Parts: sequence; C-alpha cells; structure tokens
Amino acid sequence: MSTHRLPPFPGPTTTPTTTPTGVRAGRSVSALICALAVGAATACAPSEGAVAPSQAAAVAPASPGAGASRSTTGAPGIGDPDFPSDGNGGYDVQHYDLRLSYDPSSRKLAGSATIEAKAAQDLTSFDLDLHGLTVSRVTVDGGAASFSRGKDELVIEPGKRISNGDRFAVTVDYSGVPEPMRDSANLGQYGFISTADGAFVTCEPNGAKTWFPSNDHPSDKATYDFQITVPEGLTAIANGEMAGTPQTRAGKTTFVWQEKHPMASYLATMTTGKFQIRTGTSDKGLPIYVAVADSFRGSLGQLLTQTGKITDYWSTVFGPYPFSSTGGVIDDYAAGYALENQTKPIYGGFSPEPAIIAHELAHQWFGDSLSIARWRDLWLNEGFATYAEWLWAEHTGQYTADSAFKRYYANATDSMWAYPPGAARADDLFSAAVYNRGAMTLHALRREIGDDKFFPLIRAWTDAHRYGNVTTQDFIALAERVSGKDLKGLFDAWLFQPKRPAPIT
Ligand SMILES: [Zn+2]
Repeated sequence: MSTHRLPPFPGPTTTPTTTPTGVRAGRSVSALICALAVGAATACAPSEGAVAPSQAAAVAPASPGAGASRSTTGAPGIGDPDFPSDGNGGYDVQHYDLRLSYDPSSRKLAGSATIEAKAAQDLTSFDLDLHGLTVSRVTVDGGAASFSRGKDELVIEPGKRISNGDRFAVTVDYSGVPEPMRDSANLGQYGFISTADGAFVTCEPNGAKTWFPSNDHPSDKATYDFQITVPEGLTAIANGEMAGTPQTRAGKTTFVWQEKHPMASYLATMTTGKFQIRTGTSDKGLPIYVAVADSFRGSLGQLLTQTGKITDYWSTVFGPYPFSSTGGVIDDYAAGYALENQTKPIYGGFSPEPAIIAHELAHQWFGDSLSIARWRDLWLNEGFATYAEWLWAEHTGQYTADSAFKRYYANATDSMWAYPPGAARADDLFSAAVYNRGAMTLHALRREIGDDKFFPLIRAWTDAHRYGNVTTQDFIALAERVSGKDLKGLFDAWLFQPKRPAPIT
C-alpha cells in the first residue's frame, strides 16, 4: 500500500502534475517522492542461500487453526490480537474457486464461492467472514448445511461433523450490492468499490469479505481460481494468469484467471471496467500485463516499460521474482492510493511515478510472497517497500538511502518518534512511522552489518519464507544469524521504543 504522499524534503521534487491531490483529511502521509542529488548504485552481493525459518515468535502470531480447542465450534477470529474478529479458527483454506457475475448498471454482484479447506480441529460449526450481501444457499461436501449471519460473520453448521485433519469443500451462493468498508484505518473506503463502469477492488487490510466469503486474514493464504462475467465491452482483471480467451455470449463476457501461488485474501482483486490492455515480456523474460482506464491511455506504454524494468531490477536485489507474471492497473477511481495486489498492483486514479511502481513491486516480495502473520508487524511490508524506494533512488542516481535516512533523522520533533513501528496500531495502521521509521530501521541495520551482510540477508529472508508467513521475531533472528551479531538493542531502539534512537555511527 502506498498512500499518496507529501515529499519530506524541501528540495526539488519530481512529483508530476498528474499525481493525485486526493489525500483525504485524516489520512497519514508516508514515504517519499523526492529527487535529491546524486547517489551510488546499490551494491548487491550474492545470496548465501536458504536459511531455515527461525524460532517461534515471542507473541504467538495468528495462524490457520488458531483458536482450536476441545470445543467443536470454530473460533470467529483467527487469533490476531489487534484484529480479534478477522479471519476464523478451526480450519486452513487451501483454495478458493470464485464464480462471479457483476453488472455495473445495477451494481449487483452474484457469486458462488467454493472454499476448499482442511480442518484443524473437529468441527460442528465454523465461520467465514462476509460483509453484507445475501446468502441463499450453503453446502458442505455437496450436502445441505444450515447457516446464520452475525456482524461480518457467516456461521455454518454442516450436516455432519467434520473431523480434525479432514479436507472439506464449502460452497456459498450469494448476491447483492457490495458495500465497501469505510475508514477503519486511514483509508477512506476500501474493499469492493463500485465505479461508473465497473469496480475498483482493493482490500487491505480486511476488505475481501466485501465480495467473497473468506478466511479474511493474511495468515491463511490460499490459491485462487476466478471466473468473472461482466457486460460485453468491459474487462475483468484478477490475479495471476488469464486462462484461455474470454468467452462472450448473449452480451456478457467471462474472464477466467488463476493465481496458482498462495495469496493473502487482501491481495485478491476483481477490478472491472473499460480498460486499454497491453502485454509484453521483460528483458529477463517475465510476462507483463498492464491495463489502464481510457483516461490514462497515455500512460499505458510507460507503465509496461517501467514495470518490466523495475521487476527485473528487484529480482537482482531481493532474489528470484516469486510469481508467474508482473503487471499493473491504473483505474480512474481517485482512491489516491496504490495497493500491491498480487501480480498486478493497482494505482487508484493517478499515473504512478517510478518510485511508487518500485514501492508496489517490492511488495511482491515483501507482503505478497512473504506475508505477515499479524497486522502489528506491518513494517515488514511497508518499511521494506519504502526502503525499496530509497534503493531505487540510489540505483537511478537520484539520492542515496543514507541521505534520506539523515533527512528524516534530523527532524527531532517528527511524530514518528512517538510511534514505534514494530507495533503497528489497528486504529492507525498505515502511519507514516510504519513506512519511514520502518525504512530507517533497515538502513540502521545496513549500516551496522555492512552491505556484504545486508543484501545477502534480504535474499536469505525472501528465500527462507517464500510464499509463507513471517513475524518481526523471524527477521531479527535471521539478521543475527546472517550477521553473527547481537542486534537486539538495535531493533529494540528502532522498532519498539517510543522515542528517537541514538544516532547511528
Ligand atoms: Zn506499501
């Protein structure tokens, strides 16, 4: 996620006139868009290879099956202490098969979602997350199931008890006008947002439930099939790869997409509308899919070129690209933010400058391949993606990470000193502190252990936890192992203390 930002530096800025002005009151500003003078290219030493996942976290992260107990009732939350009702306990989703039809004129969504899961306890009832919408029918393994609705919960009682370890499939038929989530965390609205010609779908942190029943928490990742039907002339864009050619019949076109790599629910999308599409291949041979709303047609070529170039560069810094294609979408809905939807970051109503593309594509490693197990560790996404902006600036000779760090550090009264980024707050999740002080944490670490340890550490991190879930404690343990240093004091000062750390040497 990148909200639209104010440059932190008084110096010259490259912010183009096409950037959005839609920063809503109350939204945090974060990271930087700024050109400073001359930097050095980022050095990148070879990887030390895989490092085993580290010891258990001090605070247990949420995980599929959390909340399991001798009761046969699946818990209504997955165990995230800061988002207690998000996700659900008692099972682990393997796959979502979503068959969806959307009509922009009536704004009505009709869906049939089949969720394949594995039980983590005996279950006589379990929950899915679902916000609004009307459920008409639920089956479990083909047999009728009864169900009831609570606030954003769909409680399902299968016809017969599911045993711990069993695989089962639940199918939910539903329809209605989706209602987005509204401003619970700096964002205005998010989730499924209707637009004049379709829908803008960005779900961080918990908006997947506005359009499909789900275990809506990043600690339960799954693969996805999408079959999306829209009026002829519109395009439906989801994650991963398009399967076959879209089929048109009786004035409606069906698009089939498959995301074969595990994905957090908030990264799923079904953005629809009138789009100009272009496909291509990066210099390293990675397929690229870009789509822009008609009013951004002038940005189509540049989005394709920059996306390929930046993805290729990150694969030399962060390790192999984790997914089967890269891409990007510019919709004409003026969200004023961008989100790192898996394989296809989306830019809400603005033509992104390279720094923002660099941020969203860095998230394909940090957030999408490696997903946080609890929201308080969000700096593992946003601190890394913000640091990637600094690395991109170094690579392209705009300014150095060191100069960005120093400018932020020089402001002794910045509010981020009071907000320890290692404990992101549910009511101010996307705080600038999580972004900028998170990036500063990485720079302080780089200075402490040197480039010859720092870059191998980053590659070991993305390799050891590829497609998995991570915590801050995992990162600290790996950093200590790769560097051979005791780094607890450094991380404590930068991530967990509500004051400005001592200067780095
Ligand atoms: Zn971000």
